[in-house]
Amino acid sequence: MATSIAEHHAVRLAHADAHAAAHGLALTPLRRQVYAAIVASERPVGAYELLAALEPERGRMPPTTVYRALDFLLAHGFVHRIESKNAYVACCEVGVPHRSQFLMCDGCGATVEIPGDDLADQLSHSGPANGFEVHRQVIELSGLCAPCARAARPVGGSS
Ligand SMILES: [Zn+2]
Ligand SMILES: [Zn+2]
Repeated sequence: MATSIAEHHAVRLAHADAHAAAHGLALTPLRRQVYAAIVASERPVGAYELLAALEPERGRMPPTTVYRALDFLLAHGFVHRIESKNAYVACCEVGVPHRSQFLMCDGCGATVEIPGDDLADQLSHSGPANGFEVHRQVIELSGLCAPCARAARPVGGSS
């Protein structure tokens, strides 16, 4: 049975609420609103977009307010930061510690999280193995999602 997008978002919010309650995390109304806005977005969303999205409900807020909420959401694994876009996506597995890779569409901006520690661990170890001190590790792949790749290809072969 197909689940509507709204139901899907509600399930993710309910899961986040349960995770926060189980771990004594203060998912305050503002933090929850920021999280909900990220969940609702089909693509990574930046802090200023979040400010604009929340303005109808909360009025004009200083950016630091949203950044503090984002810091909380990042620290507790509710969201991930897409470094190359300076934007945020909702984590697909809140409550399960993991490292992630991301597939990002250059066409529509859709971003898919690929959780998995193997590749990330292998890369982390490659630094020290080469006498290199790693400060930041980001695995973000850009390209085209299936619908965008189909749209980019000429229909019927030759053109
Ligand atoms: Zn994740
Ligand atoms: Zn796309």
